[in-house]
Amino acid sequence: MTPRTLSRSTSGEAAAGDDPAEQDAVDLLYRYGVGGLAISAMTSSSLAFVAFRQSHNRLVIGWWLSISVVLALRAIDVLRFGKPGSGLGVSDPIVRNAKLGLWRFGAGVIATGILWGLFAGLFLKNLDDIGRSATAVVLCGMVGGSITVLSPSRGLAIVYNALLVLPASILFVTFPGPQYTLFGVVGCGFFVVMANSSRISHKATMTALRLSRINERLLHDMAEERGRTEAANDELKIAQAELEESNRFLEFRIKARTADLEREMLEKESYAERLALLASRDPLTGLYNRATFADYLAKAISSAETTGMSLAVLFLDLDKFKEVNDVMGHIAGDQVLKTIATRLVTHFQDVKIARWGGDEFLIVMEEIDSTDSSFQLGHALRDCVAEAFEIEHRMLAIDATVGIALYPQHARTQEELIWAADVAMFAGKADKQSRIRLFDSTLSANLVHRHQLEQALREAVAGNTFSLVFQPVIDTRRKRCDAMETLVRWHHPKLGTISPAEFIPIAERTGEIVEIGRWVLHEACREAASWPGRDPPAVSVNISAAQIEAGTLVADVLNALEGAKLRPDRLHLELTESLFATDQSGAVSVLAELRKKGIHVLLDDFGTGFSCLAYLQRLPVDRIKVDQTFVNGIHVDAGPIVESILTTARAFGLEVVAEGVETAEQAETLTAMGAHYLQGHLISGALTPRATREWLVAQERDRDGHHRTLAAAHE
Ligand code: C2E
Ligand code: MG
Ligand code: MG
Repeated sequence: MTPRTLSRSTSGEAAAGDDPAEQDAVDLLYRYGVGGLAISAMTSSSLAFVAFRQSHNRLVIGWWLSISVVLALRAIDVLRFGKPGSGLGVSDPIVRNAKLGLWRFGAGVIATGILWGLFAGLFLKNLDDIGRSATAVVLCGMVGGSITVLSPSRGLAIVYNALLVLPASILFVTFPGPQYTLFGVVGCGFFVVMANSSRISHKATMTALRLSRINERLLHDMAEERGRTEAANDELKIAQAELEESNRFLEFRIKARTADLEREMLEKESYAERLALLASRDPLTGLYNRATFADYLAKAISSAETTGMSLAVLFLDLDKFKEVNDVMGHIAGDQVLKTIATRLVTHFQDVKIARWGGDEFLIVMEEIDSTDSSFQLGHALRDCVAEAFEIEHRMLAIDATVGIALYPQHARTQEELIWAADVAMFAGKADKQSRIRLFDSTLSANLVHRHQLEQALREAVAGNTFSLVFQPVIDTRRKRCDAMETLVRWHHPKLGTISPAEFIPIAERTGEIVEIGRWVLHEACREAASWPGRDPPAVSVNISAAQIEAGTLVADVLNALEGAKLRPDRLHLELTESLFATDQSGAVSVLAELRKKGIHVLLDDFGTGFSCLAYLQRLPVDRIKVDQTFVNGIHVDAGPIVESILTTARAFGLEVVAEGVETAEQAETLTAMGAHYLQGHLISGALTPRATREWLVAQERDRDGHHRTLAAAHE
């Protein structure tokens, strides 16, 4: 019988080692092995002692030695593998190789059983009755004990049982005497019973082992499950802690963000408030601006309409403020405006005050009972403004002119009211008598028109709606175009084309001529630089006295030349004599400086102003332009005047231009008198820039043609 059949017989389904319970069975054999071996050693020694006394001594000793050796080898095997304390189980088997262990253990048991069988065969017949009985009892006892010890292996238990019981039982049957026969039969019956017990014991042991296995697995699984649960719990705790942490962090972030948002909202609100304030205020003075004032006035008018009360709009304009700006500079000018604004706000807290523009202020006075109260306010305003103050270590006193318009007497809308107050102020400035002027519908249409122009001009300068035309000046000796005079044009969308003779004086008065003149200079030089021909004409630009007074003329001229890359000798400047009436030395030095650069200076409209021929000696000019009125009357009564102008000019070495030449006779007479240049409708009217270029091309062509004809005639 092999251990494999042994194991199959025990489990009935798998080889040793396959079923974990069989591994446990082998472990159990080894565990109980020591006790069995000890009993076997004692019994074998006792029976050997009995047999030694009654049989052949040497054979007994041999047997005893043999069984002792077998038992010792088995003891070594058991002690080596069946260490007490080692647990049973898959994870910690006593016998690492169950199959081999079973083989070794089985071999030891079978060897022991064979030696017991040999003992019966060799010594039983020589023993006396007591010895035989003792042997039978010992063997039966051994078999009984082995049922438990060998219960893990049913096969081993049965074989061991058979080897111990059957040889002795069979021998007992052969012994004479009925008692031995009985011994033998009982022995065989004992074997059968023991074999059955072995089966039952084996079954119980295996069931217990399997249950223990299942139990252990369950415990193991439970432990594992607990471990997993604990690990899951730990993870859960960590996750919870993290969640709490992130919740705290989130809460903190939300609080911080909320605080930020609140702060941002506050900032935005205050920014919006500041913006609204800025949008409603004049940045320099902090007074209401135009839009806010107009809104306020509209509301005041509608409430006056409801209550049936009157209201007054006062238009206050500083006198000679331009001079402050020109003389002391813009920073000082701004300082003056700020000081006046502060004064007005401090003194007149019951009325609304706005800065309308430049040096203009608007005041609305509500619920007035009589015109007088508005006049009183006008006087108080003037007194407040006129108080002297110190700017840049200089005492300054500025007066103001106030225009008053009343609702509903003079106008019913806010635009009309402001306009009426403005016109009244303008009239006040014009007549210089009444510094506080009430609007009057009989104010001259001319004044209203001038006022209108002044306003329109301001807008035109800002929007730059001017254009230039050019009028040729021809050289009577060289018979060619010498220069082109630049004349500015202004076309207003509503007022139509306005003559420079009309708007230039206004621009001179308001100071806007400086800006306009600068633009004209740049444009004229730019155009001149594009004129065709081998030797293109010069460009002649009219300059106002105000431009020289502003002190920027030299710089403006040089910038214009530089910007257009135009030679200085191609620029002529036309100035009127009135320039030299007031500040001679200043103007003289400016003109002298310009002439030094190669620029030609002309005295325009000669003879109309302070015509004093003696001036010519001192003035740094190259040419004079005889005014068209003299040219016009040359054949009537102006002939001697023109004659004397030409003679004097020649005496001072100056060239003469005759302007406004309209007829061929005028041209002939002037040429005969010695006029060097002619200008007027006879030659050409004013031309657009494009027409100017075309005119110059045509001139060049005609001259070439004339030269060719002359050359052919000479040939
Ligand atoms: P001005 O400088 O004496 O210019 C000559 C004026 O006489 C021009 O009038 C011109 O169109 C006109 N004219 C030219 N030939 C004839 C003619 O044969 N017959 C008649 N009846 N008139 C003629 P405009 O363009 O109306 O200019 C008037 C004045 O305006 C100019 O007089 C000049 O003093 C001023 N002006 C024009 N442009 C400018 C400018 O850019 N700057 C300045 N400061 N003043 C300018
Ligand atoms: Mg001119
Ligand atoms: Mg002129």
